Amino acid sequence: MPPLPELPFERFLTYAEVSEFVQALAAACPDWVRLSSLGRSREGRELHLLTITDPATGPAEDKPGYLIHGNIHAAELSGTHAALHTARRLAESKPALLADVAFHIVPRLNPDGAEFVVATSGVTRSRTDRSERLPNTLYQEDVNGDGLILTMRQEHPAGTFARDPEEPRLLVRRTAATPPPYYRTFPEGLVHAWDGGEAIATEGRSFDWNRNWSYDWRPEPEQGGAGDFPFSEPEMRAIAEFIHARGNLFAVLGYHNGPNGVLRPPSTGSDGDLDGGDLAVLQELAEIGAEHTGFPVVPVVKYHVKRLGVKDCNLRGHFHNFGYHHLGLFVFEFELGNLLNSAGVSTDEMFGTQNDQEYEALYRRLLHWWDKQDAATRDPVFHAWTPCDHPQLGRVEIGGWLNRHLCGPTLADLSRIAEGTYQFTLLHAARRPRVEVEELAVEEVGGGVYRIRARIANRGCFPTHVSNKGRGLRRLQPVAVDFLPAPGVRLLSLNGHRQIGHLAGVVGSSHQEWFVRRDAGAGDTLCELLVRGGAGGTCRTSVRMPG
Ligand SMILES: [Zn+2]
Repeated sequence: MPPLPELPFERFLTYAEVSEFVQALAAACPDWVRLSSLGRSREGRELHLLTITDPATGPAEDKPGYLIHGNIHAAELSGTHAALHTARRLAESKPALLADVAFHIVPRLNPDGAEFVVATSGVTRSRTDRSERLPNTLYQEDVNGDGLILTMRQEHPAGTFARDPEEPRLLVRRTAATPPPYYRTFPEGLVHAWDGGEAIATEGRSFDWNRNWSYDWRPEPEQGGAGDFPFSEPEMRAIAEFIHARGNLFAVLGYHNGPNGVLRPPSTGSDGDLDGGDLAVLQELAEIGAEHTGFPVVPVVKYHVKRLGVKDCNLRGHFHNFGYHHLGLFVFEFELGNLLNSAGVSTDEMFGTQNDQEYEALYRRLLHWWDKQDAATRDPVFHAWTPCDHPQLGRVEIGGWLNRHLCGPTLADLSRIAEGTYQFTLLHAARRPRVEVEELAVEEVGGGVYRIRARIANRGCFPTHVSNKGRGLRRLQPVAVDFLPAPGVRLLSLNGHRQIGHLAGVVGSSHQEWFVRRDAGAGDTLCELLVRGGAGGTCRTSVRMPG
């Protein structure tokens, strides 16, 4: 068997490198790790899916499932590394938990957008829409042939930026008191069908796939980035179909980049909109995540209020409300941090910035921190402004921040963070519901008639409906027991199919009894009991003759 592949925390991975890694992981651990695909991206790339479980204890499909997805946002590349780190650690250490949990890991939900960012460092939230090129609109291109898409700045009397007097490499917002020269800025690129006018739009209808979930979806412009309809994006539809085909999913975790934080529901309104008991569990689990990463815990709705500095920032069609209100699960996102975090700026400091000047001061700090890194090994985060004769705009300078590196922590920091989120995942997954058949007893009562008794119990921590919210949802079906007689065996009791309802965590159980008549000459097996429903997994137990 080949050895487990190493996950390099030195560079971002291209689609080809992600593909190579997941193939190598599955090849190194073929019984435990299965590689498949959720479907294909809009541009035809596979949406890799790793399924990891202990093969000795039954198929993954029968076990309570934990889904992890990363890199839904194109530039948030850290999520791919974090998800692959968890996959590798599970394959390497084979924790006992894998006996009754299946992990489903989608390291890169947005391979097209990520490929654009990995290859060029261009800017896109989820995807750019170039199906119809609009006139007087700038489309990102590598204009000066250095392989990167950076920022173009150009002296212009109407420019809204000026050189930072304290740090001339940076630009600051122009104020009434700012002396010239002034600059206008664009992403590096070319203007399509330019009429030579001053008004130049920038490409991109800003699709945001994390506003494309079905729960409480709202059309644009009510919710920016929402897309045309819920799950309008093929990648989102693929993950939705995966989720809905698996009633036994009990947890979903998403990886993002932004000021570091453990994000929990709700995405709209306030904590009061959640069931009180569920809120306590969400907070408790999020605090475990905080303990293992050093990140603050933030409800999503507050995170965005703070980040954007606005009063109302309800996020519609967002993952957290979908996960809690629609799936009935305790769902989380890790914001794995950004480069400011690595430079020593805390999430609270970022949230605390009140105006452009304070914000600009953070970037001054970032640049000075970067200057002090070892020049031989530091990431190429900032590029000096270099003159370029733009074929349309004339004299410009190209340089500035490298978007793909700005979005995440340093890869060295990320390796430590990814281990913390892995530890969180193990502790979260340890709470799974776990339905078992116990106290199985078969007794002959005479004349070829047998009595079968069994206790159907949930010995996991979560109830089979996971959250209180989940109890009422159609998706999380109550637990049912099917009695499947063997050839030559007849069920004498009523109800071969029994609904026993949801089972509480740890102590939830239901004692069941059946009578059967076995024909002379029938085999040793009397029946199979099939227990399913809720998120506790599917349990198949063969019942044999006594003795
Ligand atoms: Zn994100």
